[in-house]
Amino acid sequence: MSDASVLETDVAIVGAGPAGIAAAVAARAEGARTLLLDSAPRPGGQIWRHRDPAQLPASGRRWIERLSGSGAEWIHSANAIDLPAPGVLIAEREGRAFTIRWRSLVIATGATERLLPFPGWTLPNVFGVGGLQALLKAGASVAARRVIVAGSGPLLLPVASSLAAAGATIRLVAEQAPALRVYRFAGALWSDPVRLAQAARYRAGFRRARYRCGTWIVRVDPVGSALSVTLTDGRRIWTDRTDLVAVGYGLVPDVRLARLAGCSIASGCVAVDRSQRTSVPSVFCAGEPTGIAGADSAVAQGRLAGAAAAGARRTGGAASRARRFAARLDRAFALRPDLRALPDPATIVCRCEDVSLGEIGEGWSARQIKLYTRAGMGPCQGRVCQPALEFLRRTGADAVRLPLFPAPVGLLADHANRDEGDS
Ligand SMILES: Cc1cc2nc3c(=O)[nH]c(=O)nc-3n(C[C@H](O)[C@H](O)[C@H](O)COP(=O)(O)OP(=O)(O)OC[C@H]3O[C@@H](n4cnc5c(N)ncnc54)[C@H](O)[C@@H]3O)c2cc1C
Repeated sequence: MSDASVLETDVAIVGAGPAGIAAAVAARAEGARTLLLDSAPRPGGQIWRHRDPAQLPASGRRWIERLSGSGAEWIHSANAIDLPAPGVLIAEREGRAFTIRWRSLVIATGATERLLPFPGWTLPNVFGVGGLQALLKAGASVAARRVIVAGSGPLLLPVASSLAAAGATIRLVAEQAPALRVYRFAGALWSDPVRLAQAARYRAGFRRARYRCGTWIVRVDPVGSALSVTLTDGRRIWTDRTDLVAVGYGLVPDVRLARLAGCSIASGCVAVDRSQRTSVPSVFCAGEPTGIAGADSAVAQGRLAGAAAAGARRTGGAASRARRFAARLDRAFALRPDLRALPDPATIVCRCEDVSLGEIGEGWSARQIKLYTRAGMGPCQGRVCQPALEFLRRTGADAVRLPLFPAPVGLLADHANRDEGDS
């Protein structure tokens, strides 16, 4: 990246996961000047974030090679923090703000993991499912450690499988959704052989461990250097010893940048047409913000979005297929109401600002919760506590405000002044 504080491009893409990478390659193939930016130090997003490229799956390696040969400008370790006007994006990198002026913008910001609070969820060695997977890809060792994987959704399978491959002993995979719904969902995958084969491969990866539906963690307590995990199936309660717990309740589309841009949101997802065009002129969206549907769908949508953002006439059914799959996922893995009873008044809900559930009044709006308790105003800017509170207290989402990632006020003001001087 050059030292200039204002960069010009035809197509700016935020998010270098499968969707953003495919969009960048497609936009370059149409001859557009293309700039791809991500908070992470390497391209790949959540699924291809391996530190050791030798561990990347073949499809990930291929796409990352295509990106590096594409001629797209790649800016790593940079957060998109604001969209102050049409055609203008402000990003921050290493404490320095810079402006990107674009003709088209592709939002490919992926999803975040939904964590639900329960007594003990903030203890050391209790991780999010995707969080532990990310640590593993960054080189963490879990060899010979006992792990209980719990929560909900298909992500439990690849994570249990890769933990087992890394030498961990999987004690149990506990899925909160009832068996009938999960097996009905799996049965419907006969019409989707790629996903079916993938699920079977992941299940084979931890075949010695039990995958138990209708089961969830009630609490975790420290016992020396180990953890005592209390589980239930709604009838029985029992405890098990483990070294690590990985627990996550599915993924939530990250629609914050899209909301900042003013894009229409339907059922928590960015609404797009058959070219991945959003409701805002020249703004496109691809991948998980349009619905949780996995990496192949993200690539298909990214290809369409990148080409269309570069001015090509391209349409396809990737987004509507993704929406249908996401709706089936939502039905199969809907969260049981019992999970609302897990946290007690002393349980922390916002770990950045140390706010417990008992401090949050019944019926408060998301705005009131922020103003009265600071929940959601810490370093993660509500990525963790807001989806949890939406489920626990049925609070709606609060308005999205800049900066999307914490940034010093002085830096923003300084940048705004410099930018005015430039124009
Ligand atoms: C924690 C986690 C772990 C996962 N692990 C797996 C797995 O192991 N296997 C699997 O099959 N699926 C996994 N998934 C699901 C996976 O995300 C999708 O299937 C697939 O990667 C979606 O691709 P995408 O391009 O839409 O988004 P992502 O791959 O999530 O890429 C989005 C990118 O946008 C970047 N970004 C977001 N906001 C900004 C911003 N404001 N500024 C700059 N950059 C930004 C993020 O850093 C990220 O790199 C995981 C999901 C999560 C949340």
